[in-house]
Amino acid sequence: MTVAAGRRAIPAERFGARLAAAAEATTAAGFDALLLGFGADLRYLTGYEALESERLTMLVVGGRPGAVRLVVPRLEEPAALAGCRTTVPIATWDETDDPAALVARIVTEIAAAPSRIGVSDRLWASQLLRLERALPGATFGSATRAIRGLRMTKDADEVQLLRLAAQAADRVVDQIAAGRLVGRTEADVAREVRARLGAEGHDEAHFAIVASGPNSASPHHDASDRVIRPGEPIVLDIGGTLGGYGSDITRTLWVTGGDPANGPDEEFRHLFAVLHAAQAAATRAVRPGIACEAIDTVAGDVISAEGYGEAFIHRTGHGIGLEGHEEPYLVAGNAEPLGEGMAFSIEPGIYLAGRYGARIEDIVVCGPDGPVPLNTTDRDLRVVPG
Ligand code: ZN
Ligand code: ZN
Ligand code: ZN
Repeated sequence: MTVAAGRRAIPAERFGARLAAAAEATTAAGFDALLLGFGADLRYLTGYEALESERLTMLVVGGRPGAVRLVVPRLEEPAALAGCRTTVPIATWDETDDPAALVARIVTEIAAAPSRIGVSDRLWASQLLRLERALPGATFGSATRAIRGLRMTKDADEVQLLRLAAQAADRVVDQIAAGRLVGRTEADVAREVRARLGAEGHDEAHFAIVASGPNSASPHHDASDRVIRPGEPIVLDIGGTLGGYGSDITRTLWVTGGDPANGPDEEFRHLFAVLHAAQAAATRAVRPGIACEAIDTVAGDVISAEGYGEAFIHRTGHGIGLEGHEEPYLVAGNAEPLGEGMAFSIEPGIYLAGRYGARIEDIVVCGPDGPVPLNTTDRDLRVVPG
């Protein structure tokens, strides 16, 4: 199957099916209705990328098929009509209306005496507080309980968008590794990364970690004004969205400035070999049924066996889809079994504070019989002139 790398690559009929599945999941999770504000849940179910605003936009999903309404400010109605990929009845409110009262009225209409309501995780507290006052008889819980299963399992079109995003990010890594780095600031390289992600088809670049020298020991280092020097590593962790779906890749480079005498030292070569083995072993372990935490353990065991256990300071990975970080999380304590179609990062790192560090990250899909890495560009330490 091929899909165009556009915003509209998910076929329109899919959204109707998702809404029907969400209605079923609402009842299965013990909710009378879901209240979903702007964000990934709304985009997943309708395609509508609502403006993030203090004005209430809310998808109301009941437990019966067709029991769905979209509440929007009147001034957003044209945008909502244009943005929804499936037919959803729209209810509007005017600037001086009380949108929480309107939502309460609709909830009562589609679920006679609503007592259990699920709300999206990113709903603003200011809006939730108003909804709680408008629905005094109801208790509120996390709507994620109802729709996490839908969003976690990617269909073939979603996987294809994730793959296109990954391949575009792969190309950007290769372009940066082949280009000039020594003498430039991290921030300057990060600007180039963002521009190249756009040029390779991303809708948006979301992050560009360029961590050089000692900064490579800080996993979430933000690109700074530090000037890149010969004889040091650079951890490059970049990503954004393409067709709404995320990319997220990390490769580690070592810049020599063209002089082989500035190559990686013995310790870094060893550390990187251990990391490479850990990332490969964790990827190989992916299959339906294995617990998320088991993947984390596989990576951690390889790293600990070489004495770097204390230097691996974060989980092995996170789910990815419409959000850059979403379920499932590959972390100790998460016994959730992987299922076919789940997509996540595998990104162990080793960080020696004050000296240097390294990370390798791929997006991987759990296939029917094992891992399907979406990032495929060379994972070895890239010793480049820079
Ligand atoms: Zn991270
Ligand atoms: Zn990353
Ligand atoms: Zn990541």
